[in-house]
Amino acid sequence: MDLASGFFALSVYSITIFPTIDYIRTKLMVQKYFEVLNLFGQYKHFALSTHLNPDGDALGSELAIYSVLKELDKRVHIFNSDPTPDNYHFLPFRQHIKPPSEVRKVYSNFSPEVLVVLDAGSLSRIGDKLARQLQPTEFIVNIDHHQTSVPFGDINIIETQASSTSEIVYRIIQSSGLEIGKERAICLYTGLMFDTGCFRYSNSTSTAHKMAADLIEEGVSVDEVYRHVYDTVPKIRLHLLGDVLQTLETSSDGKIAWLKVTQKTLRKNGCDFSQLEGFVNYIRSIDSVEVAIIAGELENGFTKFSLRSKNRVDVGRICGLYGGGGHQKAAGCLIEKPIDEALAQLTDATQLQIDEY
Ligand code: 5GP
Ligand code: MN
Repeated sequence: MDLASGFFALSVYSITIFPTIDYIRTKLMVQKYFEVLNLFGQYKHFALSTHLNPDGDALGSELAIYSVLKELDKRVHIFNSDPTPDNYHFLPFRQHIKPPSEVRKVYSNFSPEVLVVLDAGSLSRIGDKLARQLQPTEFIVNIDHHQTSVPFGDINIIETQASSTSEIVYRIIQSSGLEIGKERAICLYTGLMFDTGCFRYSNSTSTAHKMAADLIEEGVSVDEVYRHVYDTVPKIRLHLLGDVLQTLETSSDGKIAWLKVTQKTLRKNGCDFSQLEGFVNYIRSIDSVEVAIIAGELENGFTKFSLRSKNRVDVGRICGLYGGGGHQKAAGCLIEKPIDEALAQLTDATQLQIDEY
């Protein structure tokens, strides 16, 4: 036996006798998909929800699950704490999303056995009040991909390697034997495109690209989805961006950059918080920057932060120190302090992490 065939025999041996970690992980994942699909078959009433200030992945994954349950002839209600931003109004089924103010009325003759929570790292991410209101009678199913995710469900499908929650939902639908179909494909592609930063971030894996190819074959028009999500901004958002960029500051080593958004600035431009989406990416692009931060003043005395890391700094860990979380490269948290004080605290914590590297 020559050297090459010896290696070949060895590698075949190791695959058959010692299944790889990936193989075991895939097996376990698929088992969980079937547990969830069994619940979908077994019960009749479902509530769905996703995280505060829902984004493309939150909405895309939620609406795809909604359509699966409807196809299975279930009674389903979607409740989100925050409204759907205008640029997602093109999504199929989005007209079925209801605000929390309708929970009481709906629940007067509807009692869900199962609550499915999508793209939320903890139950409180759907909003504390809504989480209390939506308590199901039997099961909470948690489907998420955040690194800082906690297993709050009775069934938890947490896949931190997945590019997006939409990617997990895509695999669940594939396991179900149902067709993906054009409408669900639009929802799932929107989630995938959003969470991979239009296939620019490191989570744009080959799996993500293969999924995109499949969804395109289902009929997704990629330029149309992109146009809805990114090319439909109102003029006031650009005026707001102009004002917010004026607040740019950097740390003395240039590795941290931050922006500050006060209620006064939002009011002046006639904007709300949802229009800040993506602003933080502008300052991450500065050559010296490792971590970009945007701080937003809320009306209730809290400051809301979005952090982005360019390389190795783990912003999920930094936000975790303040009860928030997310991913290594994109995370957020809330600090109950006035904006300047909260910002000083967070930039100090970030500098400590940077100095560790
Ligand atoms: P963004 O900065 O775009 O709001 O969020 C970036 C990532 O961090 C998203 O995956 C989002 O779900 C997560 N994230 C944002 N804010 C919070 C928070 O307050 N708590 C937790 N656990 N995750 C957050
Ligand atoms: Mn996501």
